[in-house]
Amino acid sequence: MLSENSSAVPVPPGQFRSTLPLELDDPVVTVDEQAETHEPSSDENPSISYVVQKGDMLSTIFDLLHISQSTLYKLMEADVNLLALDTIQPGHQLGFNFDENGLKQFIFRSGLTYKVVFDRGEKGDFEFKEYIEKGGYRREIISGTVEGDLPRSMKRAGARIAEAYQVTHLLKERMNFRSHLRAGDKFQLAVSRQYVNGEYTGSSIIEGFVYDGAIRKQSAFLFDDNYFDAEGESLEKAFQRIPLAKRYRISSSFNPKRRHPITKMIRPHNGTDFAVGIGTPVLAAGDGVVSRVIKHRYAGLYIEIQHNRKYKTRYLHLSKAYVRKGQKVSRGQKIAASGNSGRSTGAHLHYELHVNGRPVNAMTAPIPVVQTIPRNKRGAFKQQVALIKSQMAEQLAQAEKQ
Ligand SMILES: [Zn+2]
Repeated sequence: MLSENSSAVPVPPGQFRSTLPLELDDPVVTVDEQAETHEPSSDENPSISYVVQKGDMLSTIFDLLHISQSTLYKLMEADVNLLALDTIQPGHQLGFNFDENGLKQFIFRSGLTYKVVFDRGEKGDFEFKEYIEKGGYRREIISGTVEGDLPRSMKRAGARIAEAYQVTHLLKERMNFRSHLRAGDKFQLAVSRQYVNGEYTGSSIIEGFVYDGAIRKQSAFLFDDNYFDAEGESLEKAFQRIPLAKRYRISSSFNPKRRHPITKMIRPHNGTDFAVGIGTPVLAAGDGVVSRVIKHRYAGLYIEIQHNRKYKTRYLHLSKAYVRKGQKVSRGQKIAASGNSGRSTGAHLHYELHVNGRPVNAMTAPIPVVQTIPRNKRGAFKQQVALIKSQMAEQLAQAEKQ
């Protein structure tokens, strides 16, 4: 299990350790089910692990280990469809396995649940596999009353502060958290928290929230990956399906099982390619904050937008960016001009949508484009709301007994 490894041999930040605690287990979940089984590295190979510290860059860490720049480029080439290595952060764990030809295997781990293993293939190229610890989600019900602001009242009742902010973000279009709140207002939260070996991973899914106030009643329920009020009206701002002003031909579709035509290695295509000429305006798919504007050797100039905790979009091979990191953007805003930068076989826009950190097919994924629950799903939605509400009532009854 991932967390056993990470806790068994703690590596002090910024120091290399010469026995690799990151040995490979069977993946709990591999994203690519077609992936071949993994051969663990043999024991006679020297192995090194490293915990990223503040100010570290991948290139300097590689320099210290005398790993060539061309090897780093090959890793980046494999990473082009993942872009996991562009934002290494303090606390991320890196693992290295070598053989007589140099770096044989590179392991990137972030948090308790996420690991990517890059393996060198016969032609010297790297192939990656992602390992995601699913952990177990446990639904918990939290009840409380307002005293002061809502996040702090929720925290006092047992919610995590990040969960409380998710709730206020969700309801920000519907509620004014100053004028609508009264001391003594009641609220209930249904939240599913992820645990791996009993340890909370930091991932929480808000499943329901009911606010019963003196002057305001409001609720939010998760259904089909989107949030609705109890009447089935969407709480989230809509996305546009295509980040362009009109429909263009799709030159390459989303395909997580794509193989490289020559090397036959799995090179997932985590986006949708639109055949657009250089200079075509690229539009933000939804409201959000620009989280990356990066020039990448293979992805070219690319932009990433974080829309909320759940949705992220990426726009690759651009010729020009009209936004900078940290900037707020709104749906439909012109953020860039398309191009042909990085490694690209011709002018096109490569567009990615990530939901909860996973790339999904942006052309078919259930994004909030709907404003209300469709008629044929009303029954299922009502059942889901009734289930959450009964669990909330049960929790309240038990709390009152004590
Ligand atoms: Zn593409």
